[in-house]
Amino acid sequence: MSKQSNIAGDLTLSRSHELYEEAQQLLPGGVNSPVRAFRGVGGNPVFIDHASGPYLYDVDGNRYLDYVQSWGPMILGHTFPPVLEAVIEASRNGFSFGAPTQAESELARLVCECVPSVQMLRCVNSGTEATMSALRLARAYTGRSKIIKFSGCYHGHADMLLVQAGSGVATMGLPDSPGVPAETTSNTLTAEYNDAQAVEQLFRTYPNEIAAVIVEPIAANMGLVPPETGFLERLRELTTHYGALLIFDEVMTGFRVALGGMQERTAITPDLTCFGKIIGGGLPVGAYGGRRDIMQLVAPLGPMYQAGTLSGNPLAMAAGIATLRELLKPGQYERLEQKGRFLEEGMRRALKDSGTIAQLRRVGAMFCLYFNTEPVKNYAIAKRSDTARFARYFWSMLQHGIYLPPSQFEACFISLALEDTMLQETITAFEAALRQSA
Ligand SMILES: *Cc1c(COP(=O)(O)O)cnc(C)c1O
Repeated sequence: MSKQSNIAGDLTLSRSHELYEEAQQLLPGGVNSPVRAFRGVGGNPVFIDHASGPYLYDVDGNRYLDYVQSWGPMILGHTFPPVLEAVIEASRNGFSFGAPTQAESELARLVCECVPSVQMLRCVNSGTEATMSALRLARAYTGRSKIIKFSGCYHGHADMLLVQAGSGVATMGLPDSPGVPAETTSNTLTAEYNDAQAVEQLFRTYPNEIAAVIVEPIAANMGLVPPETGFLERLRELTTHYGALLIFDEVMTGFRVALGGMQERTAITPDLTCFGKIIGGGLPVGAYGGRRDIMQLVAPLGPMYQAGTLSGNPLAMAAGIATLRELLKPGQYERLEQKGRFLEEGMRRALKDSGTIAQLRRVGAMFCLYFNTEPVKNYAIAKRSDTARFARYFWSMLQHGIYLPPSQFEACFISLALEDTMLQETITAFEAALRQSA
């Protein structure tokens, strides 16, 4: 009898377990992306059969309300009919041409209209490619080598970005993973999130060497850590003052917290912005864009080389365009905010009634519950969360039909497909899960 059966209680996951056994023979860890393997909560992953609207259906016939949403993209819910139709329609015309199509301009136009700081856009295939390319562009534009990133911010898996910060103080980057040569990250400087003073110190130390500061304007890969008042503003001032570029990595927040992303909510204009997730509607897409004078350096218009066989893929463009068009309809973000508020209020009541000490953070349709006694304002504090309690809570929620990200350090997402009755169902499950995981 596996450990999993105990954790999952009366939930039957036998077919998932069989498929996982097979997958582990063929794929490292049985998965194609590490966090899917449930290492953060123990036990084995759930294998998905299909999804529809707010629901995921696993291979054992269990149904879950989905708060992972493929880690962000599925803001409309799964197989949203107009997106589904657009992809089917596009696929009839051919899967990929390696030649320009009108759809690429159409997606770029939608992004530029929603995010005014973006005057030109280059599509790639993932968020990783977007951040990697944006940093190459920043270095090309400034003729400088160093970059600043924040501890706990994830910008994809490019070598130079796989860096963990030292103990709260800004430090020189050391690689997070074997296989990343120290030379590759030696130009990556790190600071704690929400610590503008550390950034200022780095600029003082290297006044003419820093090409860019890259930041998640809401940190959504260490749970959910919003920027404190003045933090992003200060980054804008410092980068401008020292002639460096400010890059907002809005792969998660873009079209999630507002049509114009976090830059709309904060009225801060970055020089470059990275996108992914929602702009592909669930198909593999990333993009980077920004000021025209900077984007003009991108090949073939300029000398900074960056390319992609499948970039601007017609199916992906169709899914992205259909998704953005739906989000452009009036009232969508108000609806997301209402859903978020409804869920937050219910969760707060349950936390209070059960006497649970935890930190609930929410911005619009993203939230995270930290089993932590302190308000979480950076990675150092986030890491002190009670991950064992989180694991018990996760499995209890799963038993009640609620599929959450299998890690304390990931954000949960609300989709437009979640109706109030489903949110209420989630709150009821939450009350039970708090008791069971105590
Ligand atoms: C997901 C994510 C990435 C990486 O995108 P991939 O498509 O997984 O390569 C980069 N930055 C942020 C903020 C993300 O959330």
